[in-house]
Amino acid sequence: MQKKINIAIDGYSSCGKGTLAKALAKSLGYVFIDSGAMYRAVTLFMLREGVDVNDEDAVSLAMERVVVGFEKNAEQQSEVTLNGVSVESEIRNIEVASKVSEVAKIAVVRTKMVALQQAIGLNKGVVMDGRDIGTVVFPDAELKIFMTASQDVRAQRRFAELLAKGDDVTLEDIAKNLEHRDTIDANRENSPLTMTSDYRVLDNSHLDRDAQFALAMDWVETAIQGV
Ligand code: C5P
Repeated sequence: MQKKINIAIDGYSSCGKGTLAKALAKSLGYVFIDSGAMYRAVTLFMLREGVDVNDEDAVSLAMERVVVGFEKNAEQQSEVTLNGVSVESEIRNIEVASKVSEVAKIAVVRTKMVALQQAIGLNKGVVMDGRDIGTVVFPDAELKIFMTASQDVRAQRRFAELLAKGDDVTLEDIAKNLEHRDTIDANRENSPLTMTSDYRVLDNSHLDRDAQFALAMDWVETAIQGV
């Protein structure tokens, strides 16, 4: 049987990390984990409970009441759960998006989420996307991909996605939110978004999904051969 590896996909917001990660996991029979969904679920909890997300102590204390997990839906797709209940669609709204980076920079939040992510990856066969997967969560991942795309392309993509869902948003709101999150994610003290020399870079500003998938699968094959 082919050896299993862990695949880390990091990059800026709305670069298509999740789409590629899902396609790779499906084709390889691996588990797909959207680590951003975990930080979004924590943020949703804080918003529901009225916890001030800029108050680190209050967020850290409230974390004692947060359990994040995953469950399969009827279509066998993994959905993030908050205290046992799926919150997959609630976590995608602009309110959560506008606060998630504040929550995700808090040490207690990261420690708890990273421990969970590392436990999931223990037996290999995981494709996880996020900001710190190849640097902090799986520093030994056999394949690390850093995805990037131009700001315009990213904002347009996320805008189209939210419009299709029926959300009342403007392209300007989305562009501002992406910039806001990217700035915090790349400059925070705790596990900032960064790339090391062992990453493969995938700029998908002008690559369609099939081309991205083909390129990544080549990298996967090389990585598996190297195990
Ligand atoms: O991937 P997504 O855009 O859903 O992530 C939402 C937010 O969660 C990011 O902007 C970032 O602040 C945080 N995040 C993180 N570390 C990860 C994944 C996401 O800090 N591994």
